[in-house]
Amino acid sequence: MAAQPRILIIYTGGTIGMIENPETKALQPFDFSHLIDNVPKIKMLDFRIDNIQFVPIDSSDMDEHGWAQIATAIRDNYDRYDGFVVLHGTDTMAYTASALSFMLGNLHKPVIITGSQLPIGEVRTDGEENLITALQIAAARNCAGEPMVQEVAILFENYLWRGNRSTKMSADNFNAFKSNNYPRLARIGLGINYEEDHLLRHKERLPLDVRTVMDPAVMFIELNPGMTPATLRHLLATPGIKGIVLRTFGAGNGPTADWFLDEIRAAVDRGIVIVNVTQCVNGGVHSKRYVSGDRLLSAGVISGHDMTSEAAITKLMYLFGLGLIPAEVACRIEENICGEITV
Ligand code: ASP
Repeated sequence: MAAQPRILIIYTGGTIGMIENPETKALQPFDFSHLIDNVPKIKMLDFRIDNIQFVPIDSSDMDEHGWAQIATAIRDNYDRYDGFVVLHGTDTMAYTASALSFMLGNLHKPVIITGSQLPIGEVRTDGEENLITALQIAAARNCAGEPMVQEVAILFENYLWRGNRSTKMSADNFNAFKSNNYPRLARIGLGINYEEDHLLRHKERLPLDVRTVMDPAVMFIELNPGMTPATLRHLLATPGIKGIVLRTFGAGNGPTADWFLDEIRAAVDRGIVIVNVTQCVNGGVHSKRYVSGDRLLSAGVISGHDMTSEAAITKLMYLFGLGLIPAEVACRIEENICGEITV
């Protein structure tokens, strides 16, 4: 590694770089030079920092094309930089973090995603601290001289979380993210205290393998008490759909009525891969705990175990993007690819 860490910032938009529209007073995306001008302290870091700026968006507009753009930028610059900081809106940050974790196969360098709840131009912004800390984490090395973080992670306020285990928990708090089924990777206080046992480490160092095709033919179905046969039938008949994340009750439970299970089984028989993920923020699917979960399993629904909804849906997009047939996708959903699932 060169004496001076080389970090690439990839700016995609989000509140961190937004300014107020003078007429409507609503926040709208703005350019990177405005953002960086508001962080003069960045010059105190003895890093070489370059940037790539995309057309800035509110992350509610993020999709598989945006993810491919970010993954391509990382692939094209992988050898030139020690680490990457992706500036991104918070609304879909956990989806992007999950998607990138699958797309960037054999990643050995830090990809740290951050943003803020208040724009960088506001006096009480959390953006300055988040950006500076993300840069420091992207440059950090362990005692063997290897990158401390070798995975996609979300840095927000006091914590570093594994990207594909994270969820946006608050629309108001500075500590907006949490990983409910996996410990933090670092706690940020006076210092940055890494939990080295929880950081992802590959057994072998293989060349970076970037996949840019994510298949968007997926959707969520959220169960609610009282869901009617007509509603479920309509959702399952969505044209072109290949994969569904079924957001179930508790430990992965759903109605035991025959009509419900018949509809689900018929969709599975048509080749739709249905993954069971709990609506609870903590814990996972235990299909055998209740009859109501076991019946879903018998109908051909795959357990998503303790995956987040964000990880489950982007994993489906990734596996179908590889061109796999439904039976292969169903098999690989339950396998651990990059720390997103406890098996
Ligand atoms: N709507 C914004 C976005 O996700 C929210 C944020 O950045 O905090 O782009």
